[in-house]
Amino acid sequence: MISGKTRLIGVIGWPIGHSLSPFMQNAAFQALGLDYAYGPLAVAPQDLDRAVEGLKAVNFAGFNVTVPHKVNIMPFLDEVDVTALTIGAINTVVINQGRTAGYNTDAAGFVNSLAAAGIRVAGQKAVLLGAGGAARAVACGLLQNGAAGVVIGARDRTKAAGLAEDFAGPYPVGGCGLTDDRFRQALSACDILVNCTPLGMHPHPAAMPPLNWQDLKASAVVCDLIYNPAETVLLAEAKKRGHTTVNGTGMLIEQGALAFTLWTGQPAPRSVMREALQRELSIS
Ligand code: NAP
Repeated sequence: MISGKTRLIGVIGWPIGHSLSPFMQNAAFQALGLDYAYGPLAVAPQDLDRAVEGLKAVNFAGFNVTVPHKVNIMPFLDEVDVTALTIGAINTVVINQGRTAGYNTDAAGFVNSLAAAGIRVAGQKAVLLGAGGAARAVACGLLQNGAAGVVIGARDRTKAAGLAEDFAGPYPVGGCGLTDDRFRQALSACDILVNCTPLGMHPHPAAMPPLNWQDLKASAVVCDLIYNPAETVLLAEAKKRGHTTVNGTGMLIEQGALAFTLWTGQPAPRSVMREALQRELSIS
């Protein structure tokens, strides 16, 4: 029951009807008996600045940010934490006494999901497929946690090189096109391969990123950020070839769990969040 004391949280995006976060977060608040409520908020791109001001004015405790606002919201926030600044995108905002602070929990969410699957990042070489917002977060998470190298392969080699340049300096990172020799070399040295493109995602589950499987070491772990379907064609093929696989469900739960803690100050009930997510995915 929502009362005058309930702390309100939401997720802003456009469109927003597909978001699974309300199911995960409300289940978590209920499980811990916290008087919070979380709802989807459709915010058109041209209304973003007014929406941020409005959520402050009506005393929301915070909100998640999803496509297409993750980058564009940055100038409208009072503070941005250093990881979010490095990634160049925000997925979580905390509102405290009328001031907004932006965070990105996708990077730690990805790394935590690997740790939960028993996969080490430090000293490992990674290859990312795709150079969009998720690839930026994954690259940041891997590099901040001691990866020995990250190569970003994208159909647009200029975009891949640009992303790599943003992280260059302190980090061993490069970018190239998916058909470049550099990409084949990186693939043959790779310990962790991550699909950061939407290829294979519902409603087009037959799609798969282009890959020369012969180039990949048998010991390489194959990850897909996609969680619907739970096993993409890429992961099914990797499994058939003997690779350890990790899907995007763990990252989705972890990024949500870290946001939950930023808002409430409490550890998140991850198993409750996982159950809520799986229930919703099975009926959607
Ligand atoms: P994005 O910013 O749109 O980036 C997508 C990337 O994929 C771009 O580099 C794009 O290339 C590339 N791409 C798209 N279609 C392609 C194709 N046919 N062939 C080759 N490359 C292609 O999207 P995003 O936000 O990074 O999200 C990427 C995926 O990660 C989505 O499936 C999303 O659902 C998933 N994700 C999962 C989680 C999680 O918690 N599990 C979190 C965030 C994202 P161009 O730049 O050339 O268009």
